[in-house]
Amino acid sequence: MGDVVIIGAGIIGLLSARELLRRRRSVTVLDAGHDRPPASWAAGGILSALFPWRHPASITALERGAASAYRELAEELVSAGQPDPEVEDTGMLVLDTDERQGALDWAAREGITLEYLADVSAVEPSLQGRDGLWLPDVATVRSSRLLQGLYRMLSARRGCSLRRAKVAALEPVEGGWRVHAPGGPFDARQVVVAAGIWSRELLAPLGVELPMMPVQGEMLFWSPGPPVPAALLLSKQGYVVPRRDGGMLAGSTLREEVPDQMPTREAGLALQQMACELWPPLAGAMPQAQWAGVRPGNRRECPFIGEVARYPGLFLATGHYRSGLACAPGTAGLLGALLCGEQPPVDPRPYDPDAG
Ligand SMILES: Cc1cc2nc3c(=O)[nH]c(=O)nc-3n(C[C@H](O)[C@H](O)[C@H](O)COP(=O)(O)OP(=O)(O)OC[C@H]3O[C@@H](n4cnc5c(N)ncnc54)[C@H](O)[C@@H]3O)c2cc1C
Repeated sequence: MGDVVIIGAGIIGLLSARELLRRRRSVTVLDAGHDRPPASWAAGGILSALFPWRHPASITALERGAASAYRELAEELVSAGQPDPEVEDTGMLVLDTDERQGALDWAAREGITLEYLADVSAVEPSLQGRDGLWLPDVATVRSSRLLQGLYRMLSARRGCSLRRAKVAALEPVEGGWRVHAPGGPFDARQVVVAAGIWSRELLAPLGVELPMMPVQGEMLFWSPGPPVPAALLLSKQGYVVPRRDGGMLAGSTLREEVPDQMPTREAGLALQQMACELWPPLAGAMPQAQWAGVRPGNRRECPFIGEVARYPGLFLATGHYRSGLACAPGTAGLLGALLCGEQPPVDPRPYDPDAG
């Protein structure tokens, strides 16, 4: 029987595998592959919740240190011969917000740098005359490059087996769990369900009901050419993210209960209009790519991380909705400690899968 089977090779499953390998656990990661493209590949790569002051302290706790964790990971990837996932210190400029006081109070409480700018031109000269909230420590990462490099790097690690296999069922057995999947079954003392929105259907036959819902989101991409902002810009309508090479992303749409990865013309037009309003120098430039992903939406305020009380050895790490990239290093650190019986780095109670 192996140590741990992780179901899902999105950002949550892969970073959790890395944490466990650091603790010398043997890990098998099973992933459904093209059949169920991970939300993680579609993400804008913003290493912060959007409007972070609107979220509970348990989300801020998971996101804390995300930028430095990804910078360290980027170095590890480059030394392992993988492409640089480009962690950029873009900062986040929030425009058109009427939440100034709430945001300042949150920042003071959490010890996060956030400034009200009566004129944002010091950060973004093209937006002279507008006011906004400035979070200089927010960073971004190139998600697809990050996921690809991480997958390849872990594939070469001793003690780690990554397989394309769609899990059909989980069964408790003497001393652990049997995971039924092509090429298996795979037996392990502990199993982690990190299957994004699909976690729900894997767990339902065990009587574990998660209040999750698929929330489709779309993104647009512009190749280098049109002028890009220096900072990540966010408004209530959406965001634009500059890339190091001069490319730019705009996101994202929200369609609840839509499990579909097919982009639509309507969403493309809406995102293009939003991006030009947020960043007027983009007017007239046509996007080069559009894609969609399905977020692991969650009706609870924070993700499910931890062991299911009535099933010893069954751990969940899912339900990160719109901030799975930002919360992934914190999630993996917490999960690694819980699996190995160590002192957790944050209070685990808010994330308890059994908590209401
Ligand atoms: C358009 C868009 C933009 C986003 N932007 C951001 C952002 O800027 N910042 C941020 O922090 N978050 C962002 N998110 C949210 C973020 O992408 C998700 O919260 C995060 O990727 C969830 O990661 P995950 O590992 O839980 O799930 P996923 O990435 O969905 O991975 C789940 C994996 O499980 C596998 N799987 C499913 N079922 C099975 C099975 N039965 N057997 C084996 N494998 C299985 C799938 O194949 C998949 O690879 C965005 C999401 C979208 C859609």
